[in-house]
Amino acid sequence: MANQNHEQQLKGEIKLIDQLGRAIKLTQKLRATVTKVFDDLGNGLPNTQGNEKTLLNSLQKTLLAVNNDFSELEKLGSGINRDQSSAVANTSYLNFDSSLDKGPIYLELLQSYKWMNKVTEYSSTCHSSGQLMLSRSVFGSTVRAKRLRRSPAIHAIPTQQIDSFISSLNSQFPQMKIDVYRPLGTSTILLISVRQTLRAMVALRGLTIEWVKVKAVSEDFFTEDGKLDIWSRSRYQVFQKVTEHACCAILHFYHTVMPNAAIRSFLMWLNSYQSLFSAPCSKCGKYLQDGVPPTFRDMRLCQPMHELCRQ
Ligand SMILES: [Zn+2]
Repeated sequence: MANQNHEQQLKGEIKLIDQLGRAIKLTQKLRATVTKVFDDLGNGLPNTQGNEKTLLNSLQKTLLAVNNDFSELEKLGSGINRDQSSAVANTSYLNFDSSLDKGPIYLELLQSYKWMNKVTEYSSTCHSSGQLMLSRSVFGSTVRAKRLRRSPAIHAIPTQQIDSFISSLNSQFPQMKIDVYRPLGTSTILLISVRQTLRAMVALRGLTIEWVKVKAVSEDFFTEDGKLDIWSRSRYQVFQKVTEHACCAILHFYHTVMPNAAIRSFLMWLNSYQSLFSAPCSKCGKYLQDGVPPTFRDMRLCQPMHELCRQ
C-alpha cells in the first residue's frame, strides 16, 4: 500500500517536472513573440513605410501569436498550480538522496518552482495589458471603433503642436538639450542631455510619456546601424537605479487632462539630477552609500536621497 502511494507520488512529480519543462519552453516562445512585437514597434517593419494598413496587419498577426502563446501557457500553468503545494513538499525528500548525482536536483526544482511563480505573475500582467492592447486595436467592434474615433483622443496631437511645445521646453530648461526623433513617423522620441551628468530617452505618445531610459553621457542610444535603441539599459548600476526612479516618476506626474504640465513637472524633476554626483544625501548627509551616490530624488522638492535612506 505504501509502495503504491509512493509510486503515485513519484508519477505525479515526474508529470509535474514534465509540465514545468513544457511551461519553460512555452514561456521562451512567448518571450520571443513579445520581443518581436516590441522590436517591430521600435525598429519599424520593412516595406511598410507610409502604408499604415500593412503595418497594422503585420502587428495584428504578431499580437495574435502573442495571444495564442499566452493562452497555451495559461492553460498549462493552471494545471500546474493545482498540484504544486503537495508536489513541492514531497520533492524535499530528494534532498536526502545520498547519490551525489542527484544532489542538485532538489535545488534546481526549487529554482524552477520560484521561476514558475514569477512566470504566472508576469503572464497575468501581460495578459491584462495584452487584452487592453487588443481592445484598442483593430480587434474592437466597429461600434467601439466608431466611438473611439469620436472621442477626444489626447494622443492624437498634431506633430507641429508637439514640436512647438518642445521648443518652449528648450527655452524653459536651458540646462537641458532636447533633441527630437520620430523613427516611426508619428511617435516622438526625445533625447535629453542633462548637463554632463546623464542622458535620458523619453518616448511620447501624443504628449503622454510612455517610456523612459536613463544612461550615462558616454553611452549611446543608437545601434551600430544608426537605429534608435530604446530597450537596452545602461551598463552602470547608478543609471539603472535612476531609470527605475524615472519610471516611477512618469506614473507620479501622469495627467490625463494636462499632459503638458506632466512633462514639465517630469523634466523639472529630471533636471535635479544634474547634481547626481555632487550633492550629498538630504537624510544622512553622506555622498556615497555602498559606493553609490544618492540616486533617488523626492517627487515634490527633488531632494537627493540614497536608496536605503528613503525608508
Ligand atoms: Zn543617505
